[in-house]
Amino acid sequence: MKDMITTDGRTLLELKQLEKSFVLDKSFLETIKLRGGHIIREKRAVHAVNDLSLSVSQGEALGIVGESGCGKSTVARLVAGLLTPSGGEIHYDGERIDNRSRKAMLPLRKKMQMIFQNPYASLNPRMTIQQALEEPVRHHNPSISRAEVHEKVAEVMRSVGVDPSWSSRYPHEFSGGQRQRIAIARALTVDPEFIIADEPISALDVSIQAQVLNLMLEAKEERGLTYLFITHDLSVVEHFATRVAVLYLGTLCELAETRTLFETPKHPYTKALLSAVPQLEDDKPSHIRLKGEIPTPINLPQGCPFHSRCASANDRCRNERPRPLQQVDGSTVACHGVEENRLDG
Ligand code: SF4
Repeated sequence: MKDMITTDGRTLLELKQLEKSFVLDKSFLETIKLRGGHIIREKRAVHAVNDLSLSVSQGEALGIVGESGCGKSTVARLVAGLLTPSGGEIHYDGERIDNRSRKAMLPLRKKMQMIFQNPYASLNPRMTIQQALEEPVRHHNPSISRAEVHEKVAEVMRSVGVDPSWSSRYPHEFSGGQRQRIAIARALTVDPEFIIADEPISALDVSIQAQVLNLMLEAKEERGLTYLFITHDLSVVEHFATRVAVLYLGTLCELAETRTLFETPKHPYTKALLSAVPQLEDDKPSHIRLKGEIPTPINLPQGCPFHSRCASANDRCRNERPRPLQQVDGSTVACHGVEENRLDG
């Protein structure tokens, strides 16, 4: 095993008041609505990410968690440049990247790689593994020799535990876990510094999830990688992440060091999520049953996005959106109840 690469803690990724909405009504007729006897023009939009600010330092693994539909995968796609923000800014290593052309993004593509839930998203089923792994190496290093390409591909295959002699096979000839290992190998072939992983293990059998997670942790240690790790699974972030951001309806509820979040969660939504994780210890809080359905992000509720399901909601919560405020333990929480010190525990 190589020596662990130390990091200098410089900020690699910074999201500043990031917004993403998807317009639902595309045609003129779809925008015509009848309201109170009047015909009005109104465009509906899904507000997937709302006023999201956070940063990721080199060497960190920032986990983004929340229920399905909370906007976490949209954040991954915005950072990877697969979607364009509706507002706000994305900075990488001190430079703004959300307004760059595809050509201007190319040097960054080498530094930033994405691992998807479905390995077929990055593995063409008609390409052998050798072809799939060679492609990004050649693309990002046009002057590299044939022998060097082969050596690079063999090295990353070995590093993810796949025998290089299997490189002439096609993706369908591998198990789901092996395919995800190969997708990780493909991301590593260009020696990236930042990995965006969107639910990378949730499609795998439980028995091999830990293997793939450990492989990603090893790659982090050996290569000094930084991760933005999207998952709905809190036990995965507890194992993998150094810090955790909790999203609800595309809005930041709480951001904290992993241990702080799990030991002293503050936002009522974080508490409810954590209480749903099965625990062996008796002294863990019992399951908090959330009332109501998760509201649609089409029309975000006024005030706190969580107020319709929160047992501690008051008038202020229903009318004024809470701002993320830093707490004494370094965590950041957006909740009037926490600010007013009126929540239990
Ligand atoms: Fe609950 Fe109010 Fe806090 Fe929202 S701001 S989580 S409604 S206490």
